[in-house]
Order: sequence, then structure tokens, then C-alpha cells
Amino acid sequence: MKLPTQRAGLLCGTPPKPVPPFRHSAKLRRKTIPPRSKNGASWRRRVTSVPEILAKRNLTRADIITLLAVRDIEDMELIRKAAEQTLLKYCSDTVHWRGLIEFSNECRMNCHYCGIRCGNKSVKRYTLSEEEIVEAAKWCATQGYGSVVLQSGERNDEESISFVERTVRRIKVETVSKALPLGLGITLCVGEQSPETYRRFFEAGAHRYLLRIETTNRKLFESIHPPSQRLDTRLACLRSLKESGFQVGTGVMIGLPSQTIEMLAADILFFREYDIDMIGMGPYIPHPDTPLGKNLKPTGTETKNRLQLGLLMIAMTRLFLKNVNIAATTALQALDPTGREQGLLYGANILMPQLTPSEHRKDYLLYPNKPCLGEDRSDCAECLAARIRSVGRKLGLNEWGDSRHSRKPDNKQSNC
Ligand code: SF4
Repeated sequence: MKLPTQRAGLLCGTPPKPVPPFRHSAKLRRKTIPPRSKNGASWRRRVTSVPEILAKRNLTRADIITLLAVRDIEDMELIRKAAEQTLLKYCSDTVHWRGLIEFSNECRMNCHYCGIRCGNKSVKRYTLSEEEIVEAAKWCATQGYGSVVLQSGERNDEESISFVERTVRRIKVETVSKALPLGLGITLCVGEQSPETYRRFFEAGAHRYLLRIETTNRKLFESIHPPSQRLDTRLACLRSLKESGFQVGTGVMIGLPSQTIEMLAADILFFREYDIDMIGMGPYIPHPDTPLGKNLKPTGTETKNRLQLGLLMIAMTRLFLKNVNIAATTALQALDPTGREQGLLYGANILMPQLTPSEHRKDYLLYPNKPCLGEDRSDCAECLAARIRSVGRKLGLNEWGDSRHSRKPDNKQSNC
């Protein structure tokens, strides 16, 4: 069923409003740079130090904002250590894998930041066959990954819905083994759908669903999407996914033009408000074939800032939500060769090895410089296993690796 606000492709090519580069808001600048007294010798207002904030049992919105603004290396290390301790206390030292199959780059949407938006006519479109997807999932099960993610651009026609439904059913049946008596855990990431479609996917056997909100700030959301794509629709979808029984994941882009630290803090509060179980977020990387990215060429400093902010977002989400699953995304590695390891060190506990056939990976470029384009799936597995070992973590084999958050009967905490 088509939602009233989703008119596929009608606005392809609609140019977004120009937006200024990422900045701290004036309000935040006032907050993080306290004014001096008349003689300039002493601070007029006491600023809470990073160790003082980290010693608190429960963080407030103001605390999150203060810590997200940190750039001092020693303070970042304090935050990293606190996030790592929280991870070990509320989750474990195990990193779980989700074999990622980007099974189709067909998309009816036209997000201004995305390389496979329907308006980008230079993309070679593909869809894997049911057989190819099931074969990749079976390979994933034999490697002990435990879970698979089926990701695609967004379509909501009956043909594509029943294709996903059938494929999920087959994977559930054909990956059952002694090691995995219930078959692979399946996460879907196929966009905004109707409540009925979500129910069908859940009944077919998928039990996790990732739908990124990208930003919870209404104005910013509108500036990076065409008018036909609405924040309210996405929020309604997230609620509907919960009602259908899914463990729900979402995430945001970090370092978008005109995004502020307050907006990112609001995103973290939103994760709690919507009882989110899994987070997949990463730095925004401008794509030259998109309306948002075509005139943006980040300098080395901006790239470094985006990476730092991406890592701090992982740490703050871990400190605030404690027991959710957080992915160390490939976007981190696109900015720094050790980006994913750093993500793990800052509190992430999920990695997603590539299972998309290598001949199609270059056609699924949501952003440029995506790593692992030419690697065989076995190479990806070995490479990620080495990354996990390098940061002293364990590999969770033959386990679904659901978030502890999703297992608790009442996850509501009142620390903000
Ligand atoms: S972000 Fe998702 S929905 Fe938007 S254009 Fe890209 S693939 Fe389509």
C-alpha cells in the first residue's frame, strides 16, 4: 500500500535549498566559551569538567552537548574509556557480525545526499536474484556470522514486497543447522513501508528492521529531502515497526551542512524516546553526483572533525543508552583506514562484513570512497576478524547477537 506522502520519483531532480557548512550554533558557542571577567583573569561562570560529567550516573541534555563539543585529545580519551567501560558492563566484549547483502540499488526516493537516489541517472541499476541472495545468506551461515542484513533502495510495489517476503522465508528455512537451530537472524533495511507490509515481513521471519531517520530536526530533514519525503512519515514508520514486533534500528548522519551539536544531542534523546534497539550512524560524506554534495569539498580538517564527531556520537549514545547495539559503520573507515576499529573502541559492538557480489558493489555507492569495493567476501571476513582482534574484542560466532536492550521487559530509564 502506498503511503499518501510517498509519490515515487515525482520530484526527481528537485534542487534542495542551499545550506551553509556544519557549525556550532551561536547558543553553543556562548555555552562552551565562557566569558571572562572584566580584568580577564578569571572565568565568570564555572564550566563543568569532562571528568565531573562522566562521573555522573545519569547524563542530561546539557551534558551530552558539552561532551559532543569536546576536541581536546585527552578529554576525548576520557570519554572513549567511559564508553568502553559502559559497553563492557551493559553488553559484553563480543562483537557480532551482520553479513550485509545490498541486494538492489533500485530506489523510488530522491534523498538529496544519496548516490543511488532515483534522480542520479549515471547509476547502473541492479537487483540480485532470489537464488543469489539465498546463496549469499547460506555462505554467511556457514561462516558462523549468525545474522544477515538485506538492504536495498526503497520500493513499495507488490512485486518487490513479495520478493523480499519470499526470500526471507527461504533464508529462514535454508539456514537452519545444528549451530543455528532457528536459522540466521535477519535484519531488513528496505525503507518506508505500510504497516501491513511490515507485518508481512515480520511474519516471514525477519526480526530486526533498520530505518534511519538521518536527522530528527524538522528543518534540517526538509533541507536534505524533497518535499514528498516527510519526517512525520518516517516517525510513523518507526512506530509501526515497533508495533509489528521488530527490534528497531535507526541512525543519523553526522556533520551535515547547518547541523548543530544541539541537533545531534536531540537525536540521541530521540533514540531513547523511541525505544530504539540498534543504532547505525556515521559521518556525512558528500557525494559529487547529488544536489547536497556536488559543491562540497571537505578540507582535511573538516574530515577530521567529522570523524571525531562520529566517534563522539557513538560514545555518547553508548553512555546514554547503555545496552543498545551500535554498528561501527563503513563510513568511518571511508574517512580513516582505522575508522571502524576506532568505532569499536568508542563503544560500538556490531560490524557488517560485505556479502554483496563484488561486481555490484561499485553500483551501491551511497557516498564516495566506500571501502572494500574490490574485495572478495572471504577477504572481508578475514579483514574484519583481524580488526576485531586488534582492539582486544571477541568475535560472536553462530549467535544472532540481539541487543540486550531488546531483551529487557522495561527499558525506559529516566535519566534525562
Ligand atoms: S537514502 Fe535510501 S531511500 Fe534515500 S535515495 Fe538513498 S537508497 Fe533511496
